[in-house]
Amino acid sequence: MKNVLTANFMVEFIRTVTNMYAHGWDERNGGNISLMLDANEVREYLDLTNVVRTIPTGFSAPELDGRIFLVTGTGKYFKNVQYAPDINLGVIRIANGGTEAELLWGFSDGGKFTSELPAHMMSHIARLKVDPDNRVVMHCHPANLLAMTYVHDLDEVKFTRTLWQMCTECILVFPDGVNVLPWLLCGTNEIGEATAEKMKTARLVVWAQHGIYGAGRDMDETFGLIETAEKAAEIYLKIAQLPLVNTITDEQLHLLEARFGVKARAGYLN
Ligand SMILES: [Zn+2]
Repeated sequence: MKNVLTANFMVEFIRTVTNMYAHGWDERNGGNISLMLDANEVREYLDLTNVVRTIPTGFSAPELDGRIFLVTGTGKYFKNVQYAPDINLGVIRIANGGTEAELLWGFSDGGKFTSELPAHMMSHIARLKVDPDNRVVMHCHPANLLAMTYVHDLDEVKFTRTLWQMCTECILVFPDGVNVLPWLLCGTNEIGEATAEKMKTARLVVWAQHGIYGAGRDMDETFGLIETAEKAAEIYLKIAQLPLVNTITDEQLHLLEARFGVKARAGYLN
């Protein structure tokens, strides 16, 4: 059995968590990530018959039965993950119709998975239906996107169009746009269901006055998705109070679509 701390998925996960903290997206215990793992890969590092503990999830998700995830822990700080991964992270296998998580590794201080597990698992189910290769759900609190939800209309078309107009590459990175939820109580199955519903049509879901959810095929892609939207929000906040002289027009956005072979969400461009 190889050391799980040397596994590519673990190294990549810890590097990304550390980078997210460095970007200021995950103060204190803010943010959480779940990465779906390939059982055949995990088997090289962990004995899949050795369940350390079984933890109730508080929801049902039969679609994910048997799926294995590397997840961040509840109350844990991203800044500490690189120094004590076995305390701050866990490898869990979804069991019994999603009502239980079998701990295979980690949370060695008796801890458990993020309180946002419902939003993560429901989002995985939603994204897998759209893209069978989706593996990552990532949540964090990037300051500019968060700030934007205080001063910008939360209408999804308007919010998306503003972001697309802030950096030329935005429409190429997230042609499906950004979906937006109003303020909802976090940590509940209700916000999980609402997030998953929004994940059916976009890989980015903003939680107003809270943060953002991103989904993607790997850690880099998902990080880059949030990074690009956050950059656009930063530009917006820099210019929002200045007289607008230039913008990226819909005609130019159509040129980008054609040149790079992406299709903007239907009805979002004139
Ligand atoms: Zn949060």
